Amino acid sequence: MSIARFGRNTSKLRALLGIRARLVLLALILVLPLMLDRVRLLEDTRSKQVAQAANQLSELARHTADAQREIISTVQAVLKSSAYIFATASQQGRGCAIMRASLRVDLPWIRSLSVIEHDGVVRCSTQQNVVGIDLKDRDYFQRAREFHEFVVSDYIFSRAANLPTIMAAYPVSAIDGGQEAVIIAAIDLKWMSQMLSNRGERDGVSVVLVDGKGTILASPPESAGLIGQQLKDTSLLEAVTLREINLDRDFGSISFESADGEKKAVSFARVAGTRARMIVSINQSAMLGDINHDIRTAYVQLALVGLFTLLGAWVAGERLIMRPVRMMTDMANRLGRGEFATRAMSAALPREFIPLAKAFDAMASQLSEREREMAAANDRLTVIASLDLVSGLANRRGFQSRLEFEWMKALQTNTQLSILMIDVDHFKLFNDTYGHPEGDACLSRVGEVLASIADSCAGFAARYGGEEFCLLLPSSNPAYAAQVAEEVRACVEGLAIPHVIGTSSTVTVSVGVATITPGDTQPQDDLIEAADAALYAAKRRGRNAVVEHGLIRASDQQVSLAG
Ligand code: GH3
Ligand code: MG
Ligand code: MG
Repeated sequence: MSIARFGRNTSKLRALLGIRARLVLLALILVLPLMLDRVRLLEDTRSKQVAQAANQLSELARHTADAQREIISTVQAVLKSSAYIFATASQQGRGCAIMRASLRVDLPWIRSLSVIEHDGVVRCSTQQNVVGIDLKDRDYFQRAREFHEFVVSDYIFSRAANLPTIMAAYPVSAIDGGQEAVIIAAIDLKWMSQMLSNRGERDGVSVVLVDGKGTILASPPESAGLIGQQLKDTSLLEAVTLREINLDRDFGSISFESADGEKKAVSFARVAGTRARMIVSINQSAMLGDINHDIRTAYVQLALVGLFTLLGAWVAGERLIMRPVRMMTDMANRLGRGEFATRAMSAALPREFIPLAKAFDAMASQLSEREREMAAANDRLTVIASLDLVSGLANRRGFQSRLEFEWMKALQTNTQLSILMIDVDHFKLFNDTYGHPEGDACLSRVGEVLASIADSCAGFAARYGGEEFCLLLPSSNPAYAAQVAEEVRACVEGLAIPHVIGTSSTVTVSVGVATITPGDTQPQDDLIEAADAALYAAKRRGRNAVVEHGLIRASDQQVSLAG
């Protein structure tokens, strides 16, 4: 990818990610490694705890097997000593009686001791009903004879006691080679089960002792019903039966999933010197229940911490950046609309934004001050733009706006409005004779006269252009207007400004008068034109004269402007 393209993609990404999203991303980048490390630690802890639990399980199997071995060992010791006693005493023909008398009473798991002669028939026993029973087909009898060593049978059904049992056998030949008798002991399974009763204390743990053929020999009293059952018939341990129990291993562990979907862990250990195995199984979910609960809680805590961090980043972005930016933008917009009284609420802003807010406030007051100055300057300019500096009166522009105002007023009050058009006679000649500055001075004096008359009659005087002036008389009828016009004419003449060719050798003015009652559709120009026409007439009459134009009405459209 080219650098330019990468740059474009980055800016697209930036455009997509708002500042809050970027903050959240940053928080994620900061928090994620910590979270991952925590997850790794939790998983480590789980594996360690699982391994520890498996070890405990296998230790339990071995210890229980060792405990069972103690029972077997005591039985072996009793059989060995009985074989010795029998071998010695039988030479005197009293072997049976002495052996019977030697049976120890402190070993309740030995139900009976018997002697099987070479023909396989029991000749002597601590239990009389056993005598005479033929046991030559029993596997343990045959193995003891064959291997000349201590043998423990698998699970059998005792022919004498009519009870499930296991038998231990010891050939007398192991002590005295000439003898073919075998001493046997019936072991009480109840005692072996009692040995297990305090083994499986943990929840979900089951402990059983099975023989070489997979028959359950002993199990704790709460599951006594299992005794005598084939291991493979119990759903609990079918996997052990199928996969492991036939293997020639002394101990081991396996995990499997049972038919009902439960995960199970099984440890087994051989009871030394026998084909029996101690099998300890545990429902893995029970075993891992606490661990999983702890781990789950830790994950929930972790998720909450992560969530709060992201939420915190979002809220912080909103409160510390977005909201102040919105406030500032809003303020800038209001300033743009000319609301200069707007002030940033510094108290509600984060510290970092306060200088910016103060700068905005300062800008707002400066703008407000400048606006005031500009308004004042505008007012001054408007006044200046409406003034004539030579005469000191309003200029034509000022006159025009005053005319509009008075026109509206007259329209609303339905009153008359008069105008006097005043022109200095032969002024060109005046200029030519006395010079332009003197001409200006003359205009200034005429202006003073008009200002004074306007003051006295609530009129409005203006210099209309050149040497032409006008006087606006609101609420005046034609007669009054003619009277004021005459006053103007006389006053200018009274100034007695010398003029070489003037009719009276002084500066004079001609005045045209017009009065109107303004109508909605009537143009203001009618009034001006009428006054102009009257002025023209005054000039024609020889100057230094006043001529009135007839009253103009809205209906007087056809009136002659010359009067
Ligand atoms: P009439 O009696 O017919 O009005 O004759 P007039 O000479 O007054 O009229 P005209 O229009 O021929 O001349 C007007 C003169 O006014 C021409 C010009 O030099 C003079 N004038 C116009 N404005 C000023 C000004 O501001 N100052 C001076 N000094 N003269 C001005
Ligand atoms: Mg003129
Ligand atoms: Mg003139």
